[in-house]
Amino acid sequence: MAWDFETDPEYQKLLDWADEFVRDKVEPLDLVWPHQQFTPLAGSRRDAVDPLKAEVRRQGLWATHLGPELGGQGHGQLKLALLNEILGRSQWAPIVFGCQAPDTGNAEIIAHYGTDAQKERYLHPLLEGELFSCYSMTEPHAGADPTLFTTRAVRDGSSWIINGWKFFSSNAASASFLIVMVVTDPDVSAYQGMSMFLVPTDTPGVKIVRNVGLYGERDNEGSHALIHYDNVRVPDDALLGGEGKAFIIAQTRLGGGRIHHAMRTIGLARKALDMMCERALSRHTQGSRLSDKQFVQGYIADSYAQLLQFRLMVLYTAWEIDKYNDYKKVRKDIAAVKVVMPTVLHDIAWRAMQIHGALGVTNEMPFLGMVTGAAVMGLADGPTEVHKTTVARQVLRDYQPTEGTWPTEWIPGKREAARAQLAEYLDAEVGNL
Ligand SMILES: Cc1cc2nc3c(=O)[nH]c(=O)nc-3n(C[C@H](O)[C@H](O)[C@H](O)COP(=O)(O)OP(=O)(O)OC[C@H]3O[C@@H](n4cnc5c(N)ncnc54)[C@H](O)[C@@H]3O)c2cc1C
Repeated sequence: MAWDFETDPEYQKLLDWADEFVRDKVEPLDLVWPHQQFTPLAGSRRDAVDPLKAEVRRQGLWATHLGPELGGQGHGQLKLALLNEILGRSQWAPIVFGCQAPDTGNAEIIAHYGTDAQKERYLHPLLEGELFSCYSMTEPHAGADPTLFTTRAVRDGSSWIINGWKFFSSNAASASFLIVMVVTDPDVSAYQGMSMFLVPTDTPGVKIVRNVGLYGERDNEGSHALIHYDNVRVPDDALLGGEGKAFIIAQTRLGGGRIHHAMRTIGLARKALDMMCERALSRHTQGSRLSDKQFVQGYIADSYAQLLQFRLMVLYTAWEIDKYNDYKKVRKDIAAVKVVMPTVLHDIAWRAMQIHGALGVTNEMPFLGMVTGAAVMGLADGPTEVHKTTVARQVLRDYQPTEGTWPTEWIPGKREAARAQLAEYLDAEVGNL
């Protein structure tokens, strides 16, 4: 009987340490340097953050999703899930623990598909936490359907020249390099005709036209770049994983990225539930505490149940990834997690905001940021609708159409078959009458 929901006591000790460390040492960074976690470390920020990273390494929790050959602990996805649900409370925590998106996914594909020289140049400093990276795939006219991308690389001797536009390239402004998905052969299907290139951000012709912000951020202070690749020349060895391999690489990258977001979302949703419960116990109105009102109890019960369902789903999917070591085999459940994630965070954050009254919608509480975060999760790494179709297609693979007119569970047909099967007893029944 192998099912077991216990955490191994040794690892639980590390999780308890991480929980205290994030609350006491890392969350203050969110308040003093908000939204600056992807700005390369310098000056007083470096002085404050470097010792925290060193402490994480001493505890053996740095980049734990990676195997030992890449400087991690080889803990795998299930242990990472338990850690990430702690880190999800804080913007800075993934940076301090060496497991922030989009760098984890980018590191994963370079580790998987990169040459030794590419690993030396990009992967090792990335894993050291010394530089940032950007995944540049979406275009202004197309995102959910990558077969519509038009950014093009044309071979010129021993180099390639890239031309086109990319949109929502997160962290491009602070990244040292970009992983760009482009058309290399327009004469075959997009699944064979697109490739990935590793492009240093300072390559001539890489033009960040605008840094688009999310709602509430100031103009041009966002982190999602509109980039014009204008005659960007890169050498042949900038190609990642070979010509025509972009779709295969993208699936590897996005599988990991999606489940890691889900792990952190558990932490954020739990933070909202914690705040909801504290407020419900603290606030009195119309003769009783909020926690005594049945509406509020409904909010708490629904939120607890939603979070528990989501957490079990994420942990189960992480366990499957470790078991099969193949994202393709777990595609259905990763997509299902991705579908559920925005609603869980939205609903819990919204209820928590509601019971905080006016204070809940102010910039003195984090709820509207969480609600925006939920909206983002319904788009980033692919819109919910597309993931729903993936889930449905995968689910339908396990079914067959019926041969006749009536469904298999049609009661008259089943009853007739049951009567035939039990005929000898039915005959005896009649005989007794
Ligand atoms: C905060 C944030 C960060 C991001 N970071 C990155 C990044 O680092 N790199 C990168 O390359 N991209 C990034 N993206 C882009 C993201 O991957 C795209 O937004 C997403 O793939 C959808 O593409 P689109 O925005 O062009 O929407 P479209 O493809 O135009 O789709 C618009 C809407 O149409 C509907 N729709 C689309 N397809 C279907 C379908 N098949 N069936 C039913 N309805 C459908 C959905 O409602 C969808 O939201 C980021 C996005 C956000 C919000």
